[in-house]
Amino acid sequence: MGEDLELLKYRLPLLDYLRQQNWTGRLAGQGPEFVGLCPLHPETRPSFYVNARKNLFYCHGCGQGGDLIRFVELSQHLSFHQSLAYLERQSVPPVDPAAVLERAAAFYQRQLDRYPEARQYLEQRGVRDSALIRELQIGYAPGGSLRRHLTAQGYSLDWLRHTGLINLQGHDAFYQRVLFPCYRDQRLVNLYGRSTCAGFAHRFLPGSKGDLVAWESVCQFPSVILVEGMFDLAVLWQAGFRNATCSLGTHLTADQLQQLCDRPRTVYLTFDVDANGSGQQAAHALAHRLRAQGITPRCVLLPSGHDPNSFFVQGGDARQFHSLLEAAPL
Ligand SMILES: [Zn+2]
Repeated sequence: MGEDLELLKYRLPLLDYLRQQNWTGRLAGQGPEFVGLCPLHPETRPSFYVNARKNLFYCHGCGQGGDLIRFVELSQHLSFHQSLAYLERQSVPPVDPAAVLERAAAFYQRQLDRYPEARQYLEQRGVRDSALIRELQIGYAPGGSLRRHLTAQGYSLDWLRHTGLINLQGHDAFYQRVLFPCYRDQRLVNLYGRSTCAGFAHRFLPGSKGDLVAWESVCQFPSVILVEGMFDLAVLWQAGFRNATCSLGTHLTADQLQQLCDRPRTVYLTFDVDANGSGQQAAHALAHRLRAQGITPRCVLLPSGHDPNSFFVQGGDARQFHSLLEAAPL
């Protein structure tokens, strides 16, 4: 509800609504503030102020103030819920956040073959299989071209900022990143971008990081391998371990934890073995929680300094990885 409300206010800014109602205001002082005659009480000298950035109004004459919905309540004499229904009818056709993300994801997938550095990066991370790249819907964000692409399709800059695809400065949020789509209930809810150069390594859009990766196919296996990174998952799938899933970080969301525990199974926790021990600490804490839910956790110990990705990139093979699974203590 709260999110829908914010979306509604994004779709129909207060100032636009007032102008549709033939309200005229002039710029007042500095900042995006407008003043005009109050539509809520009779007056001859303008005392009704609208702040376009904050999307709020205030009248110094009658003392009323608030947001778009409050204005509709007062001007149309409607309840809060009636006002919402009224505005739903008034506002432009709803924009579906998943639809925008899908367009962005499709755009980024098309860029993958246009930028040799993207393929090079995948190669370097051991991901070579073209069918797998398509299956995982891997894309590439060169940066600087998504905004133009989506605004040409009629999406407003405000809306694109709201999705997080475009930042407050008006630039593409993803810049020189390999991208993976994140799904929830098979609906695209986010994009994960791995920097291919000096930028901060991991980036998501605001909001949920989604389900365990490909859970609808992985959940059928009596034992699953859980990894923290998409490149870990990619090399494991490439090596034939189709029972691998990924939580995108060592911290599982409540939903991801629930998925993992939806039936009795063995879970091989295969987190990074890093120098500070944080990956293994996270694995042991998670193992404890899983055991309490009737799951059989096994913490896989990779050679020191490795994650599943680097293990395969540096020559490890499926047989060796299988031995590590077998050696994982209960
Ligand atoms: Zn007033």
